[in-house]
Amino acid sequence: MTMPAASKVAAASGIAELGAEALRARTSYGEGALVVCDRVVRIYSGDGIEVQALQGLDLLIDEGELVAMIGASGSGKSTLINILAGLDTPTAGRVEVAGQDLGALSARERLAYRRQQVGFVWQQTSRNLLPYLTARQNVTMPLRFSGVSARKRDKRAMELLATLGVAHCANRTPSRMSGGEQQRAAIATALANAPRLLLADEPTGELDSHTAQDVFRALQTANTELGATVLVVTHDPAVSTQVRRTVAIRDGRTSSETLQHEVADVLGHIVQQAVEYAVLDRAGRVQLPREMTEQHRMRDRVRLRSLEDHIGVWPDRSGESPSANTVGARSGNAAGGPSGNPADRPANSPSGNAPEEGGK
Ligand code: ADP
Ligand code: MG
Repeated sequence: MTMPAASKVAAASGIAELGAEALRARTSYGEGALVVCDRVVRIYSGDGIEVQALQGLDLLIDEGELVAMIGASGSGKSTLINILAGLDTPTAGRVEVAGQDLGALSARERLAYRRQQVGFVWQQTSRNLLPYLTARQNVTMPLRFSGVSARKRDKRAMELLATLGVAHCANRTPSRMSGGEQQRAAIATALANAPRLLLADEPTGELDSHTAQDVFRALQTANTELGATVLVVTHDPAVSTQVRRTVAIRDGRTSSETLQHEVADVLGHIVQQAVEYAVLDRAGRVQLPREMTEQHRMRDRVRLRSLEDHIGVWPDRSGESPSANTVGARSGNAAGGPSGNPADRPANSPSGNAPEEGGK
């Protein structure tokens, strides 16, 4: 097959442009963020069954943020935390923390990363602290590995325990501490080496709500007073009212984010308002919440139109009622855009927002 010279040139420059675009996307996505998850995939395989725990997950966290992560059981939260903790590696995609590519670390670098850059707190209180050591000894242990002098270790441990409200537990072993106290001592231990990132996987999952509050406050203290960037997995939806940013994960991808905004109420008082956003990925994909797609009986395909200040999404009714389809067909709307049929207009939409006559 031959191609006219001009179109050959056009095709070549098109490909060059695509290449440049891909390179830009690869190098610039997440520049300056402390945590970069770029299309992260994690597939578990075994017994002939493949589980796609993470399916191209994108997430950026800036230094200094405290981010809550919510999601149904099995949505991939622990898989992500384990990867960020340097305990597991992604099957595909890029994970960077503080400029380090976690997929490219040698065994030695990985160990240094886990000791210096990241701290973690797990749900099971027993997994966080050594049972035969006191709280103070637990906190000094990571400092000992880092070669900090005995005097400095002790000072640091006592400061951390005091800041997190568990100085009174310094000389107790975990069995003589409550669950909440154990988790706060665990946070102190995780922060011993002043990591830049603190990861907590359902740290309040085994606690009653009152104790959970104390532990959550300790995480906030770690963020505001001790300067750690915090990512905390929780199944308590109430946390989104207490943090500025909550990321929801669904089927191995970030699906929505709730941000707290400060707005003025009618009396001029500044109040917090939570606004939920859908995540728009770099390929332009948005996950429509199932409640909404079911309510509007959207399936397989939807119609889109760019309106003055937003994009409208309409269900495809082509297969349902012959009359609903005639206007679109008559106007030769080959692209499948919204037709001019009033039956297709969202009922509660102002007329200015309704889809216009398709294909003029
Ligand atoms: P979450 O923490 O959100 O509950 P996980 O990250 O633990 O979810 O799990 C995500 C999915 O991956 C689940 O379907 C789970 O069964 C599967 N999974 C997790 N760990 C493993 C593993 N080691 N081997 C096989 N499948 C796993
Ligand atoms: Mg989990």
